[in-house]
Amino acid sequence: MNTSINPAPLRKINMNYQNTLEFAIEADSNDQLKTYRDQFYFPMFNDREVVYFTGNSLGLQPKTTQDSIVDELEDWATFGVEGHFHARNPWFSYHELLNEKTAKLVGALPSEVVMMNQLTVNLHLLMVSFYRPTKQRYKILCEAKAFPSDQYALQSQVKFHGFDINDALIEVAPREGEYTIRHEDIYAAIEKNKNELALVLIGGVNYFSGQVFDMKAITEAGHKAGAVVGFDLAHAAGNLKLQLHDWNLDFAAWCSYKYLNAGPGSVAGAFVHERHHNSTELPLFAGWWGHDKTERFKMEREFKPMKSVERWQMSNAPILSMAAYKASLAIFDEVSMDALIEKSHSLTGYLEFVVEEINKKLKAEGKELLQIITPKENRGCQLSIIAHGKGKDLFNQLMAQGVILDWREPNVIRCAPVPLYNSYEDVFRFGEVLSSLL
Ligand SMILES: *Cc1c(COP(=O)(O)O)cnc(C)c1O
Repeated sequence: MNTSINPAPLRKINMNYQNTLEFAIEADSNDQLKTYRDQFYFPMFNDREVVYFTGNSLGLQPKTTQDSIVDELEDWATFGVEGHFHARNPWFSYHELLNEKTAKLVGALPSEVVMMNQLTVNLHLLMVSFYRPTKQRYKILCEAKAFPSDQYALQSQVKFHGFDINDALIEVAPREGEYTIRHEDIYAAIEKNKNELALVLIGGVNYFSGQVFDMKAITEAGHKAGAVVGFDLAHAAGNLKLQLHDWNLDFAAWCSYKYLNAGPGSVAGAFVHERHHNSTELPLFAGWWGHDKTERFKMEREFKPMKSVERWQMSNAPILSMAAYKASLAIFDEVSMDALIEKSHSLTGYLEFVVEEINKKLKAEGKELLQIITPKENRGCQLSIIAHGKGKDLFNQLMAQGVILDWREPNVIRCAPVPLYNSYEDVFRFGEVLSSLL
């Protein structure tokens, strides 16, 4: 496995961007990944595909998903309970079909990843093992304004262990007047709390600002302080080139319905570094699917844990949602994250260029400018844009013209041109509509 830099440095884009339809069409025709767009269903608007920039919220449906699910429905009809062992993809071991490709996707060993449950559930289950506060060491360091579910999860874990959230939760925030968190402030907070710090748990990519955190360096800093380090990769999986094993994270969890296109509420991912796989000290909430699979059906009283992340599995696998994930995963495996990242840099760079072009026009007209708050050097495909002086009206008007984005109060538009299925023409059309509304 490569030891690599995190985040991958922004490649120099040699494209000579122009805010014209001709340029966009030309760029699309030179795009190595252009055929993948056709492998997805796009919602329609006035007989035309919408500009879909919300793959960071719910990825589009691959055209192969339906068959993958229907295969399992057929086998269920054909085999009934016997499908556990006799289905074309036996359900008993179905999740194992996903481990290798998922591992490749997030830079892990196959034994370090498993698809199970839902994201917030996985965060809780992993915190059962990895947030074990003592009187002396009980604090959790996280990002301020983390995704609400993460905030609730952290708060409830702290309370569950009998601590006070105001004392135990350290939230690192952007400085006054800034929108993103400085890494130096994260390291300073770790250092300052090093004697009480039990856990560092933040998002690999902040969902609001699109800021990417240096997971390798934060993990190192956390470990140096004697803390356990985990990441929520909801906005990172399928969006960034990850090296979870080499970066030495203790654990991570992510959902599969955002960039990974596995459908609403689909099965989530979990990573536990292999150094924890044989631990006899880590407590966990156990279930039969975490029991040594060679003896699972002996139904014996004593729990014998799997020697992999699969020991954290509790229940038998949700086959229908895994079938959707399996179809999508095959596409990622074929494309590779390297190719996606390359297009991602170029496509998001184009979006940035188009926004800057609109700003030139606004400036000439003496109007308030658009502000991209996502850091240039630390980003995936999402740009978070502040429309100064504009309210939700702007967003509603964009939506009414078939541009699907998402709005975060008070005035942030999140745009995620997804390299797998978005095009340069999408970006151009977005700019055209936005410009007409300002
Ligand atoms: C999308 C998202 C969630 C959603 O959690 P679920 O358990 O899948 O509903 C949680 N955290 C982050 C950071 C997210 O982006």
